[in-house]
Amino acid sequence: MRNWITILTAMTFLGGFGLSKFDSKPESKAFKEIPVMKVNVYMMGREEVDPSITVKIFENIDYLNEAFEGQINFAFNELFMDVNHAYLPDIYAGFKEGKDEIVQPLVDPIEKEGAINIYLFDTYLEHGSSAALMGFTPLLKAKQETYSMNSPRFDRILMAYDGLEENKTLVHEMGHFFGLKHPWEITTFAKHRLGIKTMNDEAKNHMSYGSDVERFTPQQLEDMRNYALKYRKYLMDRVVKVYAGV
Ligand SMILES: [Zn+2]
Repeated sequence: MRNWITILTAMTFLGGFGLSKFDSKPESKAFKEIPVMKVNVYMMGREEVDPSITVKIFENIDYLNEAFEGQINFAFNELFMDVNHAYLPDIYAGFKEGKDEIVQPLVDPIEKEGAINIYLFDTYLEHGSSAALMGFTPLLKAKQETYSMNSPRFDRILMAYDGLEENKTLVHEMGHFFGLKHPWEITTFAKHRLGIKTMNDEAKNHMSYGSDVERFTPQQLEDMRNYALKYRKYLMDRVVKVYAGV
């Protein structure tokens, strides 16, 4: 397990060096607020520790921190195991009809509040589809300011164990968790504002599908950081102020 606290404390300390007491710029501009989000992981349908899965979970969280480039930090909090299980496509089918009756009884006895709760389930290839469902994130369609009041119902990311393999599913779902949409759902103007200007930009963006995804744009990262500070503050471990230059 990594010690995120040490790293972040070091960043704050270095930040402090950059500012002299004679600096006339307001502190709020010189420092950038970096949210540190707490993350719990739940291994559903498992009773014994499987080291190959726990290693993958930590790899995924490392990759997540790399993908967010320090604009949001993710601090691993706790790992849970539970024998109860359901299949991801079945849970999703219920959600599409506006019901969470499969997942709610499963998570009720074990869920911890105050963190992003990532649930791992098995998945399967549905008849007639070419790819198995790897993950989804239940979101409010409007009134994002009510996330804290609805906690912990919308603090969940539901993922397939197989989705851990490439490290990319969690990053994509976290993008949704912090307000990002798929590029094909937004206007050309909105894409340009985000810095998604070419077909290649779109193919490589974490919010696209496919195996080429590898990055967020700086504007996406800035939008997610602001979104986290505005709507997901109740899931934060802490806010770290880093020197952002003047
Ligand atoms: Zn998506």
